[in-house]
Amino acid sequence: ASTPKMHQSNRNLLDIDRDHLIHSVTSFRAHEARGATMLQSGKGMWLTDMDGREVLDAFAGLWCVNVGYGQDSIVEAAAEQMRRLPYATGYFHFGCEPAARLAERLVALSPEGLEHVYFTLGGSDAVDSAIRYITHYYNAIGKPAKKQCIALERGYHGSSSTGAGLTALANFHRNFDLPLRWQHHISSPYPYRSDLEGDDAAIIARSVQQLKDRVAELGADNVAAFFCEPIQGSGGVIVPPVGWLKAMRQACDELDILLVADEVITAFGRTGPMFACEAEGVTPDLMTVAKGLTSGYVPMGAVLMSDKVYQGIADGAAADVVIGHGATYSGHPVSAAVGLEVLRLYTEGGILANGQKVAARFDAGLAGLADHPLVGDTRGRGLLGAIELVADKGTKARFDPALKVADRLFNDGYANGVIFRAFADNIIGLAPALCATDAEMDEIFARIRKTLDGLL
Ligand code: PMP
Repeated sequence: ASTPKMHQSNRNLLDIDRDHLIHSVTSFRAHEARGATMLQSGKGMWLTDMDGREVLDAFAGLWCVNVGYGQDSIVEAAAEQMRRLPYATGYFHFGCEPAARLAERLVALSPEGLEHVYFTLGGSDAVDSAIRYITHYYNAIGKPAKKQCIALERGYHGSSSTGAGLTALANFHRNFDLPLRWQHHISSPYPYRSDLEGDDAAIIARSVQQLKDRVAELGADNVAAFFCEPIQGSGGVIVPPVGWLKAMRQACDELDILLVADEVITAFGRTGPMFACEAEGVTPDLMTVAKGLTSGYVPMGAVLMSDKVYQGIADGAAADVVIGHGATYSGHPVSAAVGLEVLRLYTEGGILANGQKVAARFDAGLAGLADHPLVGDTRGRGLLGAIELVADKGTKARFDPALKVADRLFNDGYANGVIFRAFADNIIGLAPALCATDAEMDEIFARIRKTLDGLL
């Protein structure tokens, strides 16, 4: 901090980054040893780094840049809004046009029955907000004991403390006494590796039974909600059997608990339809979104809720009591203006339709890798997919962690000109932007194959 500014600005960017910037979800030691790869620009599916190397981004940033990089109309929408009105708070009952219009548009596009929107800064606080509103709802309707929440093993619901507790990944719990005492987990419907054994119908039946058993254990009067991703993302792109979400919806109704669909990754065409719930004809009671809402151009998330939940709170005995939940940037005009333009690109701009078309090529790419000697499983829906690598296809044994296969995969992939997620348990996660061409999709899989061949 005592170094003169001029001197600092002449330092190598990599050194500055390593010395001062804490990256998301990182090993401090690895970051210090290896440093960062600095990116400088992007266009469509392609990123260019500071060395001038061009790479194909098969992960849409962090499963968010669904419309691709370099969409000028988004830049114009943001600039215009910044000039006109860069900030407006929802406090004091102020409103602004972009936030109101975006809420209206989101409601129009989302599954029938979701009517009300609270805007957040991202996915974690959308999940936190859902929990807060659910609790207010049950208080308002005279069921204040309903506070327990159930989620899935391998689920990811954010890195805020409440979100990280619902997240069932061990490194998000460490040192924080998570999950919180009202947070519980049941098995993941993970056809390739699951303690819910059997065919698709058996997995669905066992999953429903686990939910019912857990609710019975906790007492139905104490359970508020079941949270799930329609397809689990950060847990390794786990695609449940078709019919699973519908069965869980029915179970939630029977059990008198709310269903919260965390569509932070799966929304906005990622899995084909605008929202993954649509494929199962399911309307959740609450739905969280982020990422693709603004396609990563600016931060924004949202929680949508049904009229039942909203009116429950509004009509409650304490309806006049101010709900202590909000944030400086909720419904930010510039984020909302960007969101409106991004939604226009998905629909009138044809990007959703392009994503649905190129998904056939994505599927073919995944299928083409299934017989690779290192590939145990390929799975996906729409443009969300995974390639699970194994040391032994017969036993499904994972690689020895000492081999650090995931690190190698990521580094080799980058050297071969493709970016994907390489999860610690040797699952390659894929989420290319919806603007990809067939040729770009084929090139992504050619580069992945080359990367896998390099590991043989
Ligand atoms: N829920 C899900 C399903 C997610 O995938 C994520 C982010 N990967 C989050 C919540 C948290 O979102 P954010 O990182 O924007 O806080």
